[in-house]
Amino acid sequence: MKNVTVVGSLAIDNIISTGVIPNSGETVFGTSFDTAFGGKGANQTVALGRLGARPFMVGAVGNDSNGKAIIENLKKNQINLDFVGTVPQATGTAHIILYDDDNRIIVVPSANNEVTLDNLKDDFWSLLKDSELVILQNEIPQVTNEAIINYCYEHHVNVLLNPAPARKISEELIEKITYLTPNEHELSILFPHLTREAALAKYPQKLVVTLGSKGVYFHDGKHEILVPAFKVKPTDTTGAGDTFNGAFAYAILKHLDLKNAIKFGNLAASISVQGFGAQGGMPTLEKMKESEF
Ligand code: ATP
Repeated sequence: MKNVTVVGSLAIDNIISTGVIPNSGETVFGTSFDTAFGGKGANQTVALGRLGARPFMVGAVGNDSNGKAIIENLKKNQINLDFVGTVPQATGTAHIILYDDDNRIIVVPSANNEVTLDNLKDDFWSLLKDSELVILQNEIPQVTNEAIINYCYEHHVNVLLNPAPARKISEELIEKITYLTPNEHELSILFPHLTREAALAKYPQKLVVTLGSKGVYFHDGKHEILVPAFKVKPTDTTGAGDTFNGAFAYAILKHLDLKNAIKFGNLAASISVQGFGAQGGMPTLEKMKESEF
């Protein structure tokens, strides 16, 4: 099998729960603190690794304890790390405040901003050429993503872009992407002048819109189709989108049609929201089979 390659972010999530949000100049007491592995790139790679896809991760960490912990975690998930570099900047972090059913997140990209064309190894481009699918998100510099999309298009390599966090891209680049997987908010930033229905009809078999517990919409060229989410009691929905993207990509690599690949992604995400943290609940293939996909 050819490679599956994820080029993206690696981070440590610092998660604070609090009953009060401080005003300017004020200090308050929070109720709990946790850390978890995160970064959309790493999360989606781990989702693929758990399923047995042996993915390549391309990205950067700092020469610090967070970076070392991330590398160990990726090794445990059978991820190829030949293209994860160490840079002088700190490892990326996300600072998540959980407050009253609401979350506020500040991402500090640090090392993830160093995934630049200059810093990528020379043999990175042959890794792409030997890949069956290349997966991107929006937590590394846009120019890097754009160059990768152009290169893959020229070399007939399929690209999945999960446009999260939301960032605009040109129509010309959208044409070159094989699968585009926004949630509803990201969809509205990508296509501010189109309704969801119009956007889906404009990009059949390409645009895959996730809608949390409702499921996922796509267009098969004739009709708009909703692939419903599985009904479960969620414990923690952090990373639902990342699990969906990793598992959806795995199913595409196994040549499932779009509808069944989405169903596979939905099932993996529904298992993952029953565990803690972005990666905690991500299923193995055995777990997926128990759930009788
Ligand atoms: P996040 O930013 O939290 O990773 P997202 O906004 O990118 O998520 P969502 O659309 O919320 O992505 O969720 C992705 C997929 O996860 C959904 O399409 C669905 O299959 C599954 N999912 C999310 N929430 C639930 C839920 N409460 N119950 C079952 N499945 C869910």
